[in-house]
Amino acid sequence: MANILDGKKLAQEIELILQQTIESGLEVAKRSPGLAVIRVGNDPASGVYVNYKEKACQRIGVKSFAKHLKEDISLEELIEIIKGLNDEDKVDGILLQLPLPSHLNEACLLSRINPDKDADGLHPLNLGLLIKGEKGPRSCTPAGVMALLKRNHIEIEGKRAVVVGRSILVGKPMALMLEAANATVTIAHSRTKDLPSLTREADLIVVAAGKPYLIGEEHIRENSIVIDVGIHRLPSVKKNLQKSEKTKLCGDVKIFEIENKVAAYSPVPGGVGPMTVTMLLANTVDRWQKHCGLPLTISHLLP
Ligand code: NAP
Repeated sequence: MANILDGKKLAQEIELILQQTIESGLEVAKRSPGLAVIRVGNDPASGVYVNYKEKACQRIGVKSFAKHLKEDISLEELIEIIKGLNDEDKVDGILLQLPLPSHLNEACLLSRINPDKDADGLHPLNLGLLIKGEKGPRSCTPAGVMALLKRNHIEIEGKRAVVVGRSILVGKPMALMLEAANATVTIAHSRTKDLPSLTREADLIVVAAGKPYLIGEEHIRENSIVIDVGIHRLPSVKKNLQKSEKTKLCGDVKIFEIENKVAAYSPVPGGVGPMTVTMLLANTVDRWQKHCGLPLTISHLLP
């Protein structure tokens, strides 16, 4: 029977630690941690994610400084807003919700966030710290995957790992974090030839391709560990359903084909998704401790 890596449960456990950390630091800090999530335009998926993040802030006592900006905002206007948040003492973490409308230069804007307030670890300086193996804010989704593996006592050292996807948001930092934990890592992408024979060599596979059901039985070796980062809402094939049942969430992996073959897997929903939000909170609370001169007690939660 495969071990199901329960991200929802672990996220709740970590949230409790973060909530207690905030409560015990308030007297000295004299203020709550602050997180600013910047959303541009009306992408519905981004709306759902931002909503999750705001609710999570409320649950643990992080003050939210959310900004919902018009779709046609100019690059210059957005840079000014980021500058304002960089200068605001009550804001410890800033996250720019991706994707952005196509007229905005993502790399330029990410580099304008103060690296010390970079709640998603995507500033070039923080990516550099990750490459060097030095502490710093870490990209939330791969950090969540690392926490999920660690909590489930999955040994990474010496493992052959394949990361499917090479985005700056997930694939690349994921590969660096696994390598820092002494896995031997290969990155696959859309031009990789014969993906099944590559992934069949792996002890650990992290799939972040953004392609529903890309990975199936033919890609997986017995007793491997499979982490599914993908998240998609697809129409349900069943007939005569209520409105709320007409779509269903799935990942990049056909879990139904592999669940009896692998040693462990992360489900969708309830695997990596909740961990991403929790690691955003962890980065924010870690920054708050640093900005308020408190002891850094939760760094061990971040890879
Ligand atoms: P992305 O920027 O679109 O990157 C996708 C990557 O997958 C690219 O590197 C692409 O290769 C590669 N790829 C695409 N098709 C492939 C194929 N057939 N074979 C091998 N590689 C392929 O996506 P992302 O931002 O990294 O996100 C990936 C997925 O994770 C999405 O479903 C997203 O919704 C999900 N996600 C989930 C969370 C969460 O919290 N659960 C957080 C972030 C993202 P090229 O570089 O060659 O184009």
